[in-house]
Amino acid sequence: MRICPWCASQNRDDSNYCGECGKLLLPQQGPEVIWDISHGPFITCDPRVPSSEYSGFAQFIRDSGYTLDISTAQLAPDILAGKVAVVVLVTTAWRRPYSEEESALLADFVRQGGGLVACAENRAVEQNANLDMLLAPLGVSVGLSREDSPVHDLNRHPIFDAVDGIRVTDWGKISAGGSLAAIAQDEDGNVFAGAGEVGEGRIVVMGDCSMWDNHHLLHNARLASNLLAWLTKSNP
Ligand SMILES: [Zn+2]
Repeated sequence: MRICPWCASQNRDDSNYCGECGKLLLPQQGPEVIWDISHGPFITCDPRVPSSEYSGFAQFIRDSGYTLDISTAQLAPDILAGKVAVVVLVTTAWRRPYSEEESALLADFVRQGGGLVACAENRAVEQNANLDMLLAPLGVSVGLSREDSPVHDLNRHPIFDAVDGIRVTDWGKISAGGSLAAIAQDEDGNVFAGAGEVGEGRIVVMGDCSMWDNHHLLHNARLASNLLAWLTKSNP
């Protein structure tokens, strides 16, 4: 599956040009984004890996002009050097928690201008705790509930430009205090996402990982474009 990062329409995998807007769909060697899978992905029935259920998202990041480093290496200063953003999904950080050292590295990365998106899951997913060390210093908790409601109450925020709702499944409410402000809720006011600037960098935390899989990505493609642009301070 290949989704155009400019017009959010679906194309054939082998398309070189978007059938809708005509723009070139080719991976480009732009700024580097790291998708940290060093903590081990969920790989039971349908593997939550960038080569399987998240293949569309990996392709989308590349087609958006980024070099994507799907990294299995232990986070270290040289791994993060030169990167513009880090992607952390609990489904691809499944097997062990982020350590204090890794969290400190990522916090420094953001303070110095990097972008970080961290996506959690609903309350039934114990692995949400893997993100605790990363998120607690920000004043953020995840996996506080299990919701299946649509998320249409979006605040004014650059990542929601031309977005009228977020397609989610079985998500968990988050609390966004401290460095992050709540930016998206369901109709009952359950907070789905928080965002904020820390030092020179930017962070977004969301309560779902399914939103980026091959079943949901098409509906969230505009959001994905905006998110990458905002985190990396570039134009979509
Ligand atoms: Zn297009």
